[in-house]
Amino acid sequence: MLYHCIDIKKCIPDYHVDNVYALDAKKLHERGFQVLLVDIDNTLMSYDEDAPTDSVRRFVEKVRGEGLEIVLISNNRKKRIKPYANALDVPYVFSAKKPLKRGFLNALDQLGASYGKNAVLVVGDQLLTDVYGAKRAGLHAALVRPIRAETEKWFTRINRSIEKKILRKIQKRYPEEYKALELHKR
Ligand SMILES: [Mg+2]
Repeated sequence: MLYHCIDIKKCIPDYHVDNVYALDAKKLHERGFQVLLVDIDNTLMSYDEDAPTDSVRRFVEKVRGEGLEIVLISNNRKKRIKPYANALDVPYVFSAKKPLKRGFLNALDQLGASYGKNAVLVVGDQLLTDVYGAKRAGLHAALVRPIRAETEKWFTRINRSIEKKILRKIQKRYPEEYKALELHKR
């Protein structure tokens, strides 16, 4: 199985929160983060939504208000991602092919300035694409709980079953991190 080839340590996020709104932009800024690369599906909206909610708009405003840059990064298609990002007036990368590094680096290329990898936090709901991809690219990662897992497509459901196995490995090999990050809540 695929997950046997995965470096389990690279699947451990730096933060684990209920949702994006639990991320305090001010604190993130104080910790040295200057850029958020944010996943869309099940991180900002569920699969049955198509436009940014007021809460998402406020979140983006708050992040920018703290002086952080934000780029949306999704494995989904242009048709879904472009109108969403345009409605929020933020740069974006579609068909990012996470967990490959390239999409994350493309997302950083969307910005006018260049940032050190330590200044970049990837935010997403999947261990296998968002966290593992971020770590492979040398970036930090915040894992959120999926907004509505029951509307997920079949390929995401496969990722989730692999995620469960990875979580069990993290629990076994890195029990302290597992506990501190409250990964049992996944
Ligand atoms: Mg997602």
